[in-house]
Amino acid sequence: MSFQLIDGKLVAKAIKDGLKPRIKALKDKGIVPGLAAVLVGDDPASATYVNSKAKACQKLGIYSEVIRKEASITQKELAEIIKTLNENTNIHGILVQSPLPKHIDELAITLIINPEKDVDGFHPFNVGMMFLGRETLLPCTPHGILNLLEYYNINPDGKEVVVVGRSNIVGKPVASLLTQKSKMGNATVTIAHSHTKNLPLITQRADILIVAIGKPEVITSNMVKEGAIIIDVGVNRVDDENAKKGYRLVGDVDFEDCKNKASYITPVPGGVGPMTIAMLMTNTVIAAENSWEQTG
Ligand code: NAP
Repeated sequence: MSFQLIDGKLVAKAIKDGLKPRIKALKDKGIVPGLAAVLVGDDPASATYVNSKAKACQKLGIYSEVIRKEASITQKELAEIIKTLNENTNIHGILVQSPLPKHIDELAITLIINPEKDVDGFHPFNVGMMFLGRETLLPCTPHGILNLLEYYNINPDGKEVVVVGRSNIVGKPVASLLTQKSKMGNATVTIAHSHTKNLPLITQRADILIVAIGKPEVITSNMVKEGAIIIDVGVNRVDDENAKKGYRLVGDVDFEDCKNKASYITPVPGGVGPMTIAMLMTNTVIAAENSWEQTG
């Protein structure tokens, strides 16, 4: 079967291009959207993610600030940084890059972020509003997946969707969004996880298979229905002595093995990843627009 590649870079560019007139309109009113990223510790992957986000801001004319702190930071010190950012009128979006050091209570930090500035969509207020199907700042990766499907005219309505992974940032929210009674919802969704018995039997049912496990190439062609739409969220580093950096990135899906069974499939990298950043930019612009509506 011939498959169509779902090009996340292309869709992310279209979304970011669509933000440009909105950013200009804000600037005409004297508002420059601003995003602050708090990076704790020296995890190289986190540093790469934060740099990519800052670079995306720069390209769009969004003001960005990266606050770098040692892993030894205390809960109280981190909380104070968030409170200061909440008060800063030049900052419309705040993100705290995870993972945080073990001694930090991540939920307690998320709870301090003003939900109106919670551009990751992780604050329980925004999570609750999303589950209620109300307009709110949506989590970036799940929202990015919906945008990918929409761009390729894939309507989840009535489709059998299987989400593998039940994290609070990907699996659970994407399942929630796809079951909403809404334009990109109305799917019949099953969530699988590490306790799921006979995973292949479940994944084989999927018209749309969304995989967010965090383990390299777990999903193989025998687990996929002919003609399935495969969205691979996973990003895994595997050793590769031929690669410049000594590793290469692969997804949770064995792309080469699965591609010929799929009707649509995302690559890794270049699939979901760029969408996460595009949706973060979108949320920052929305937060800036909302701030103007309140004070302008
Ligand atoms: P996570 O919090 O570690 O959750 C992984 C989920 O997968 C858990 O629910 C776990 O089940 C389940 N799981 C693990 N092994 C499994 C198996 N063999 N079979 C079935 N289920 C299994 O991960 P996450 O934060 O959702 O991230 C998942 C992946 O997506 C990672 O590679 C991450 O780097 C990537 N990611 C990418 C983006 C992007 O922008 N591209 C954004 C976010 C995350 P239990 O709950 O039972 O433990």
